[in-house]
Amino acid sequence: MSSHIPRKRFGQNFLQDQGVIHAIVSEINPQPGDVLVEIGPGLAALTEPLMKRAGKLHVVEIDRDIVAHLSGKFSPEQLIIHHQDALKFDFGTLANEIGKDGIIRLAGNLPYNISTPLLFHLASFGAAISDMHFMLQKEVVDRMVADPGTTDYGRLSVMLQVRFNMERVLDVPPEAFYPPPKVDSAVVRMVPWPTPPWPVTDLVRMEKLVLTAFGQRRKTLRNNVKGILTDAELEQLGIDPGCRPENVTVAQYVVLANFLSANGR
Ligand code: SAM
Repeated sequence: MSSHIPRKRFGQNFLQDQGVIHAIVSEINPQPGDVLVEIGPGLAALTEPLMKRAGKLHVVEIDRDIVAHLSGKFSPEQLIIHHQDALKFDFGTLANEIGKDGIIRLAGNLPYNISTPLLFHLASFGAAISDMHFMLQKEVVDRMVADPGTTDYGRLSVMLQVRFNMERVLDVPPEAFYPPPKVDSAVVRMVPWPTPPWPVTDLVRMEKLVLTAFGQRRKTLRNNVKGILTDAELEQLGIDPGCRPENVTVAQYVVLANFLSANGR
């Protein structure tokens, strides 16, 4: 489908470098019988090798022209197409229907314009997903895997690290795509913690707390959380009220969130 004009609004940058495609598929390492779902198959650069190795593949794609192209090219026994918006797609129900013991694997070269909301959407299906491999803008991967005390460390780092063990597995230059994006890319592997290192009582409450804590990065933690936690409480929990939100570790955010849960706040 060389005639397809890449659509900017759907973040279409198609992989064309065979070496990079091979390297990504090797990192995903699909096994025959794996229940694998690809988000945004596009012109099938990853789709075809993934489908061949897993035996069959589910894809979620928003662009009607691409859906028509894929359904003409592959048999419906091998490629099951969900013509939907991944941001609204219920991966939990899909995993229940098709998953091995209700669990699926996820992969994709994600549209960069929706990557952060999509990551938050996907994180909510944690229990239904055994692993995820995504190509993202390099800066987003930097934020996902960032350590406390760095400028990249923020809400995305805390809320994903608390649920997933994450690893940057590959850096990919713009020339690997058509059209080349204006940014560098990287592939990240996300695996839900089998035993969470920092068990959270209530993730929704934690999400709200972290959002509040990073409300104004330049302000102190005390200032950002003043409506919900007092200085004395922060100190009692071993956290310096005068530190900045980026100096609070994931473990400490969990202590704070669990304290709020225990006190019904
Ligand atoms: N996987 C292909 C590749 O590597 O060459 C295409 C990757 S391209 C960066 C992103 C793909 O996601 C496109 O096929 C685009 O149409 C699709 N897409 C964009 N927004 C989407 C959404 N909200 N839900 C599902 N697919 C989407």
